[in-house]
Amino acid sequence: MAHDEILIVEDDRTISQLLQVAIESKGYRAKIADTTRKGMALFRSDNPALVLLDLGLPDGDGMHLLAQMRLVGKTPIIVVSARDQEEQKIAALDAGADDYVTKPFSTSELLARIRVALRHQADAVSAASAEKLTAGGLVCDIDSRTVTTDGAPVHLTPIEFKLLVVLMRNPGKVLTHRFIQEEVWGYPTSDGYQTLRVFMASLRRKLGERASEPRYVTTEIGVGYRFIAE
Ligand code: CA
Repeated sequence: MAHDEILIVEDDRTISQLLQVAIESKGYRAKIADTTRKGMALFRSDNPALVLLDLGLPDGDGMHLLAQMRLVGKTPIIVVSARDQEEQKIAALDAGADDYVTKPFSTSELLARIRVALRHQADAVSAASAEKLTAGGLVCDIDSRTVTTDGAPVHLTPIEFKLLVVLMRNPGKVLTHRFIQEEVWGYPTSDGYQTLRVFMASLRRKLGERASEPRYVTTEIGVGYRFIAE
């Protein structure tokens, strides 16, 4: 794997060049593909450490490219798109994106998210701790990064997994939006709590939560979330 290479799949030259300069200023190498076809070719030939993926591309939809890349491996993929509907973000995360950044974006925030995604990847590879968290029918094995509810596997993205770990390590406590953001992303995101809400909605859906009758996580309106202690 090219440990220092970041692949930028983006057809808007202004944005791709801005990203390239920002990325190279941090010591990574950047390669640009302006179509899904070139993006997949570079992904296969270079095996980059991380991918920044636009969705609106001239020869196809970035969502298809995302799915293709996921078939190949677990390389972190951050979607960078102007599509700002919550359903579109959830669809991209469900398809295997590690994170989602809405255009226009702050370069420093995007760089921070790249660092976090690369760190998650490194954590996933080393997986030092053999900790196992349980609550009711929910089991979260930190070592193997597997989650089950009532014995059935739940497939989480790296950020959803981190979010669940933060919640399960603090049972019964009200966790503020800001606390959770800092634990999961390492910094407060610039879009208020929108990104957190999207990931939380996706996590709850995967855990089979019903809003009317939450089993694991309650919303503390205007404050944050609470993991229900046994
Ligand atoms: Ca585009």
